[in-house]
Amino acid sequence: MRGTIVFDLDGTLETPYLEKSDDVAAIRKHVVARYGAAMFDRMFATVLDGMPHFFLNGALELLRWSHEQGLEIVFFSNAVRSRNEELCPILMERAFSGCDIPRYRLFSRPDCIDLNGGDGDREEFNGLWGGGYKKKLIGVVVPESEIDNTLMIEDDSSYACKGEERNFVYGEYGGSANEFLLHEAYGDRRGDRRRVVPFHLPFWFCGMVKRTLEIAESERLTLADAAVRALYADRAGEFPVNGEYLEGVSGWDARDKIPSPPFKDFAVFKEGLAELRTLNPELKFWGEVDETAADWPEWAQERF
Ligand SMILES: [Mg+2]
Repeated sequence: MRGTIVFDLDGTLETPYLEKSDDVAAIRKHVVARYGAAMFDRMFATVLDGMPHFFLNGALELLRWSHEQGLEIVFFSNAVRSRNEELCPILMERAFSGCDIPRYRLFSRPDCIDLNGGDGDREEFNGLWGGGYKKKLIGVVVPESEIDNTLMIEDDSSYACKGEERNFVYGEYGGSANEFLLHEAYGDRRGDRRRVVPFHLPFWFCGMVKRTLEIAESERLTLADAAVRALYADRAGEFPVNGEYLEGVSGWDARDKIPSPPFKDFAVFKEGLAELRTLNPELKFWGEVDETAADWPEWAQERF
């Protein structure tokens, strides 16, 4: 194996759809009319505890692509274990439909460090980014000897443990990608079409991991070092690594004082799409997004 790729679930690969179940019928009607019945069957995961789940665009292909790059697939979600144990087999069966499903590992809420529940103190676990739960990789997911070739694919950097920030390939917050689906189904009456960006987050993650693998290969770097280069580009040198922290910088402060990944860089989304399309030629942007354009439509770039 070339390394380990750890995926968050909610807001990274899928969106737990929090609205009424009637909305599934409305979304189905729209998706079937616009993208075909097969697409709805592919993207609608299941209903768990009354909560419908949709896969984000490109999530299924991203899993297969990662496996084909020689990366071991692991899931690490802060949701309860029983939900994850139902969701992950569906995700893997759908992603590897017609192929052998690779072995994978799953970590859930009990595997997170709960800083509110007495698992440790904030000083010890909060590095650049604050947060109540931490997805510690060393000793939980991989031994220390493998951390340098482990990537965590996340939409929320606050899960990063002190000293493991450089393993985090973190993108735009994807937690409300369902707002885009609502808008697709109901137009301006419901939802928010600007959430088209997080709905396509798997494209961006693929683009970033592809860049990471290329840098690792050409510069002979570990995956974690290459990820810092891919995410922060010419500002990579400003990203604190190897446990060196800027004095007094943590939590929200860090967002202004260290470089951020280019969350909305359309070029990265398009690179990812081109790569994932080799596995599924049907893959494309949903909504009114022109993939031949240089950037997202203006409405998608508004801050929200
Ligand atoms: Mg998440």
